[in-house]
Amino acid sequence: MRALAVGTALPLYDVAIVGGGINGCGIARDAVGRGWSVFLCDKGDLAGATSSAASKLIHGGLRYLEYYQFRLVREALLERETLWRIAPHIIWPLRFVLPHHKGLRPAWLLRLGLFLYDHLGARELLPPTRTLRLDRDPAGAPLKPEFSVGFEYSDCWVEDSRLVVLNARDAADRGAVIAPRTRCLRGEREGAVWRLTLRDEVSGETGEIRARTLVNAAGPWVGDVLNSVVRLNAPASVRLVKGSHIVTERLFQHDRCYIFQNGDGRIFFAIPYERDFTLIGTTDLDYSGDAGAAAASDQEVEYLCKAASDYFRTPVTKAQVKWTYSGVRPLFDDGASAAQSATRDYVLKIDAEGDAPALLSVYGGKITTYRRLAEAALAMLSPHLPPVANPRNWTAKAPLPGGDFPVQGFEALVSEMQSRYAFLDRDLIRRLARAYGTLIPEIMKDARSRGDLGRSFGAGLTEAELNYLADREWAMSAEDVVWRRSKLGLRLTKDEIAEIDAFMATTRTVEHAAT
Ligand SMILES: Cc1cc2nc3c(=O)[nH]c(=O)nc-3n(C[C@H](O)[C@H](O)[C@H](O)COP(=O)(O)OP(=O)(O)OC[C@H]3O[C@@H](n4cnc5c(N)ncnc54)[C@H](O)[C@@H]3O)c2cc1C
Repeated sequence: MRALAVGTALPLYDVAIVGGGINGCGIARDAVGRGWSVFLCDKGDLAGATSSAASKLIHGGLRYLEYYQFRLVREALLERETLWRIAPHIIWPLRFVLPHHKGLRPAWLLRLGLFLYDHLGARELLPPTRTLRLDRDPAGAPLKPEFSVGFEYSDCWVEDSRLVVLNARDAADRGAVIAPRTRCLRGEREGAVWRLTLRDEVSGETGEIRARTLVNAAGPWVGDVLNSVVRLNAPASVRLVKGSHIVTERLFQHDRCYIFQNGDGRIFFAIPYERDFTLIGTTDLDYSGDAGAAAASDQEVEYLCKAASDYFRTPVTKAQVKWTYSGVRPLFDDGASAAQSATRDYVLKIDAEGDAPALLSVYGGKITTYRRLAEAALAMLSPHLPPVANPRNWTAKAPLPGGDFPVQGFEALVSEMQSRYAFLDRDLIRRLARAYGTLIPEIMKDARSRGDLGRSFGAGLTEAELNYLADREWAMSAEDVVWRRSKLGLRLTKDEIAEIDAFMATTRTVEHAAT
């Protein structure tokens, strides 16, 4: 079975993690870097669920101040610059424009919220809040004329699914076993260890491993893992909340993002996306179906078009929608009545009585706080693990793969790569630099011309890049490549995507034959 050592004794890991979303991969990286042996499995692709369906903001969450979630907001605000520094290719600053809407929250409340936002979390690089005259500033141009005043503040953007895969890559480089497409079927306590039964979802083969501790980072399936995999009789305190986004053709020309308030009290964003598009979201709806099948409904698309049309001069219509996606937040059930007011803070629950091996379950959280969540998880698990040489927190200062360049050095990196690979156009270099940072040479190898990169599949995607994604980033299908490792699906035709699938299937056959 792929990734599972076969031998007489079952392999024994210090930490086994179920779930290859941001929380599982963040914990894997942190744990292996401290010196523990780590195994992580995901039933599908890495970031195949909620962690590729976010609004992709590294943000304090201005609106959480209304729910007095000061701890969460402060921790998240502090993370903005920390994460930007360790991954300046996939994370960058974004300015948010908040138009004042006379019928909704009063200006003094917005000012107070933004004052707190500016001062709760230390900022060294991100610029502060300012008041905007929208009747004079270009950010006001696409908006209806009644929005004459607004505010502008800082947060960051993140390529969410790439953040996941880079955490997994770094964990694997440090010795962790990362096993996508491997479902955890059963977890049983056997004396002082867990015995896990796993199934390779590609070949159908099953295998077993043992682990001293088990982390349930199954996101929306956290309750299923508790009930059906480890069969604990503890009721899961999870509240599933669906959020959908729409992607339209580009609605405005500047590079700032809008944060709008809707009449129902919700806020939503309109964000410049993939150069030629605008991302609008999100909705917040309680959800009870299969988390893997969540999709944007017609009503959600209409809701988002209508909400955006209340602000933009030119109405946003369904005809402009190029793509939609939907994700399910696995929130801790704090008994809040409305989905939007349920806490976004993370909650970690440990089950470890007597000498029984520990089980840690992860609820809620945000992409923004994944690193801090991993630190908190390991602080809870470490008493149940063997001593290690490096027990301290370490991830705040260690760059993620490809992120080892100065925090404000992205343009310099693009120029350096442009002069090194002059046969590629600047737009393609820029895309590659955003995705792979300083690792571009690993894709290029010793290429001296475009032809050396092999077949072209459209939108600048070459055989060399696909081989890299298969070898180093666990990509196996076109979907992994065009919707998670990249968003090239927005630019490729169905036929081109089918060609990529056919190519990936060949790579996969070769990989299987070799293992
Ligand atoms: C609409 C929306 C917008 C959001 N926007 C933001 C934002 O802008 N900023 C922010 O910071 N956060 C945001 N979030 C929150 C953030 O996306 C989530 O908190 C985070 O992605 C949760 O990650 P996770 O690892 O817990 O879960 P997931 O990413 O869902 O990962 C869980 C994994 O477990 C695997 N799994 C389940 N059962 C098994 C099993 N039996 N065996 C093996 N594997 C299994 C699944 O396949 C899945 O890949 C948003 C969330 C949503 C839904």
